[in-house]
Formats: sequence, C-alpha cells, structure tokens
Amino acid sequence: MSEQTLDADVIIIGGGPAGATLGTLLGQNGRRALIIEKDIHPRDHVGESLVPSTNLVFDRIGFLPKLNDAGFVPKPGTCWNGPRSPLWKFVELPLFEEPLEGNPQPWTFHVERDAMDTMLLRHAHDNGAKVLQGVKVTDVIFEDDRAVGVRAQAADGWERDLRAKFVVDASGRRCMMASKLKLKRKDRSFNQFCIYSWFRNVERPPQRLYGWGLFYFIGLNQAWGWQFPLREGRESVGVVVDKEDFQKSGVDEDEFFNLLVGRSKQFAHVMRNAERIRPYWVEGDYSYKVDRYAGPGWLMIGDALRFVDPIFSSGVDVALFSALYAYEAIDEVMRTGNEQKVLDAFHTRIDTGVDSWYDTIRLFYKLQNLLTRYAVHPKWRRYIIRALQGAPYPPSVWRTTKSCRQPCWARTTRSCGIRTACCGHGPWTPRRTAR
Ligand SMILES: Cc1cc2nc3c(=O)[nH]c(=O)nc-3n(C[C@H](O)[C@H](O)[C@H](O)COP(=O)(O)OP(=O)(O)OC[C@H]3O[C@@H](n4cnc5c(N)ncnc54)[C@H](O)[C@@H]3O)c2cc1C
Repeated sequence: MSEQTLDADVIIIGGGPAGATLGTLLGQNGRRALIIEKDIHPRDHVGESLVPSTNLVFDRIGFLPKLNDAGFVPKPGTCWNGPRSPLWKFVELPLFEEPLEGNPQPWTFHVERDAMDTMLLRHAHDNGAKVLQGVKVTDVIFEDDRAVGVRAQAADGWERDLRAKFVVDASGRRCMMASKLKLKRKDRSFNQFCIYSWFRNVERPPQRLYGWGLFYFIGLNQAWGWQFPLREGRESVGVVVDKEDFQKSGVDEDEFFNLLVGRSKQFAHVMRNAERIRPYWVEGDYSYKVDRYAGPGWLMIGDALRFVDPIFSSGVDVALFSALYAYEAIDEVMRTGNEQKVLDAFHTRIDTGVDSWYDTIRLFYKLQNLLTRYAVHPKWRRYIIRALQGAPYPPSVWRTTKSCRQPCWARTTRSCGIRTACCGHGPWTPRRTAR
C-alpha cells in the first residue's frame, strides 16, 4: 500500500497519558499520528499522584508550563506511617532532598486525571496529532503477521478500517494488543483490590506536610491507604488490599472501606469528619505482565504493556517514558528500516525499567520495616528518595550488575530472593537519559 493511501504513519489506540504523549512527539516531528480514543474527554481515571521524573517528559513535549499553570496541588514529598504511629508522625521523604539530575523542577503534582488527561490530549492535537474521540478500536488488523491497521467503530454505527505503518497500543489496562496476541499473564504475587473516592472535610496535615502524598499502612499484607490533596479542598482517599480480604469480608464496599480506614489510628483520625462526594470507584485484578512489547508493525506503551502495584505512583512515569522510547524507536525504524533490532532494544529498555519498579515494590512489601529504617538513616535515605523520583530506565542506573561494588541501600538483602545477590537497585548515580 502506498504512503498516500495510508490513513496515518502511526495509529495510536487510546488517548490517555501514554497515547497523548506519543501523539505529541510524532506530531512535533512531522509524523502523521492518529489517536483513537473510545471515550470523550474529560473522563475519570485513577492515578492522581505523579512522580518528579514525569517533568522530564512533560518538559520535552512542551507540556510542563501548561501543567504548572493549571493550579494542581504541588507534591513536594511522600511519607508513610504504621497503623499505631502517633498522630502526624511519618517517615518523611522530601523529593527535593535528592533531586533528579536535569529535572526542571524537583517537585511534582497531584492531578485530577480527568482534567490532566484532557489537557494532554488537547496538547497532542495542538501539536499536529489527529484525535478521534468517542471512537472505539474493535480489532487490530494483521496481514502476513504484520499489524497494518485497526477497525474503528463509533457509537452511531460508523465503522471503518484504518491503515498505518505502525499500530501502537495505548489502551491502558484493556491491553488490546496483548489480549489479541495472547501475551498477557496475571501477576501471581499481587492480587489486589482497590477502592477509592473523593472526599471533603478530610483533615489535612500540618503545614510542613502540605501537598505531600500520605500513605497509611493498615496492618494487613500488601495493604495500604492513600490521601492525596486535590484542588478546591477535595482529597482523593483510597485503600488497596488483597482481593481475598474483600471477598472474605462479606460486607459492602462502604463498610469495607471504613473498616480498613479504622485499622490505622492516623487514617481514622483524618477521615473522622470526611464526606464522600463521588461514588466509590473499585479496581481489581490489575497486576499483570506481558511477554512481548513490540513486533512487526506494532508496539505497546503505558499500562497496555504491564501494570505493577501502584504504591510508588509509577504508572504515569511508565506511560510517559514508554511513549518517549516508542517514539524514538518508530522514528529510527522509519529512518533506517532496521525494525527487529530497534524493537528488541525498545522492549529491553522498558522491561528493565519496569522490572526495577517491580523489584523495588516487592522489596518494599517484603522488608517494609527494614526499608523504613533505611529511609530515616542519613546514609541510605537518599537512595530511597531517588527511587521515588522515577525514571529507572537504562542507561540510567537504578539497576546495576551483579559485580556492583558501590554503595547500595539494599545490599543487606542477600536472602530476600529478589533478582541478584546484590540488590540490583543502586547506586543511583545521575541519569543520562530522557532528553
Ligand atoms: C489503584 C490504582 C492507583 C493508581 N495510582 C497511581 C498514582 O498515584 N500515580 C500514577 O502515576 N499512576 C497510578 N496508577 C496507574 C495509572 O492509572 C496508569 O498507569 C496510567 O493511567 C496509564 O496511562 P495509559 O495512558 O497507559 O492508560 P490510560 O490512562 O488507562 O488510558 C488508556 C486510554 O485508552 C482508551 N481505550 C481503551 N480501550 C480502547 C479502545 N478499544 N479503543 C479506543 N480507546 C481505548 C481508554 O478510554 C483510555 O482513555 C494507579 C492505578 C491503580 C489501579
């Protein structure tokens, strides 16, 4: 098929942060991008607390000034406490204490995702991407084992096959491509359930912790609660717990939520006068792995390629960086024609980074008390703060080889069973990537 008869260079399924970022990059660089989004933005979405590394990609695509001007609540740090911690006593990790090299600003934001995602999709459009909203991709079209286009359908029955040189799956946890190619596997280590909503009259912390992401551990395995401040005095509050605990509880969502909040002295205190202003939002079965992130004519980005437990707020970081690296890969393939090698490198780069998030999260759950001690230890806390900044993709150095001899905050965890004899998580010397 000739270039003229193609509908785009790249068709992107989904207009969330991953799809909009890729569409922007392609548009800015003269490639024809077509984003197809099934909903009409603004649409609600979980995932409101960002990590500072997202600034690097937002800056690169020219979106950071818009984000800064939107009035979202700045997030200068993250902290957590245990179920019986004294009131307002947290392990406090200010993000500016160990900033990412090259980051235009050492803080980030809590965002209402309906608002931010709408702004980001509009930004893609402003930068040259075509955007179809209210149109669902119902299938990916393959010819001779190569993705060549998609079947798109609108609610009014309009249906069309659209063709491009590349199809990128940014459909989020729907995992369109991975489901079609049977590449998706459930993560056996995490089988969580999340319930959250927005509230008013949640008590906010003392001034020194204003805007921080507050995490409450509630004394159950792999379970925690969050309190994120939003604009106009609203707070996003949610709990994550093993799905079995909900199934066994025999109570409804409201009662279950309140029971979990009541397990932490501090959490119960801040929620004692809270008034819920939206229905509960429930998410389950959200951790999975995908065997392959790219193949002939196709790539996956964002949640469509993998989802790891959200405790470190890693989701939008993965969405943005995978979009950036997918852009670089597509651009290189279009210039050199060397598809397989480039797509293999894309897979490895993202996989290594997401594995780093995954290992850190597993380590955190497994050795929470130990890591809490590290987090307050003057020698090690900077490594933990660095982990919370995001961007663990090579050639940055979250991950080192087995022969690493440099200081490493998890070195004492030889028996934790995670990946290598050395922990593989440090030392976090300055990044050289992303720009
Ligand atoms: C409990 C929980 C808490 C979380 N907390 C955080 C957090 O604090 N911070 C953070 O960074 N991340 C968090 N996340 C993760 C975050 O929500 C995601 O990682 C992020 O939204 C991924 O962006 P994306 O663009 O890949 O996918 P999405 O944002 O899901 O966007 C995908 C888009 O594709 C569209 N789509 C789907 N199917 C089709 C189709 N067939 N045709 C056309 N369009 C389609 C959808 O409508 C959607 O707009 C959390 C997740 C969970 C479950």
